[in-house]
Amino acid sequence: MKQTIAYTIDDRRYLSITDRCTLACEFCPKTQGTMNVHEYDLTFDHRPETEEIITAIGNVSDFSWIVFCGFGEPTLRLKTLLEVATHIKQQGGRVRLNTDGLANRVHKRNVLPEMAGCIDALSVSLNAQNESIYNRHCVPALKNSWQSMLDFLQLAPAYVADVTATAINGLEGVDITACRQLAEERGVKFRQREMDLVG
Ligand code: SF4
Repeated sequence: MKQTIAYTIDDRRYLSITDRCTLACEFCPKTQGTMNVHEYDLTFDHRPETEEIITAIGNVSDFSWIVFCGFGEPTLRLKTLLEVATHIKQQGGRVRLNTDGLANRVHKRNVLPEMAGCIDALSVSLNAQNESIYNRHCVPALKNSWQSMLDFLQLAPAYVADVTATAINGLEGVDITACRQLAEERGVKFRQREMDLVG
């Protein structure tokens, strides 16, 4: 079966460019052994290069948003991500990046200036109001990930106009009100997500 690189939900086109993660979230279907989102199987057999992703998108103007999402952290393929995002902007599309907010931690520099101009919106998984709840649910590979994610959120509005932090309602110990407050203190929007809903 051909690997799903791009898939459509409503009028949004989603891009799955990696299967690697910096987290191993216990609520993630991937962690639980399934690679399905809606009717799409996101199982990987290779990591697609820029041209293959661009071809898979199709006509940018057919979609309200092109969203980097999937069962992997798109910023782990930063160069490819930025090349594809730049192409989408050149075609007049709008780009959203769904991310764990750990790109600066992973790449050991502030990558937000590289995102400015080719990413219109960031959706950052805040996920928990403190480090211990975050570590319990998200199982980060890198130390200080929760604080790094918050630092990223703090910096992001200077580079990307539309920044939203998210947390999942119903996860044990997660205080949605406190998560919202952390987001608002950093000048970003907050969105409460529900379990098992992607997008
Ligand atoms: S970061 Fe996303 S894809 Fe990766 S384990 Fe967590 S929920 Fe799953």
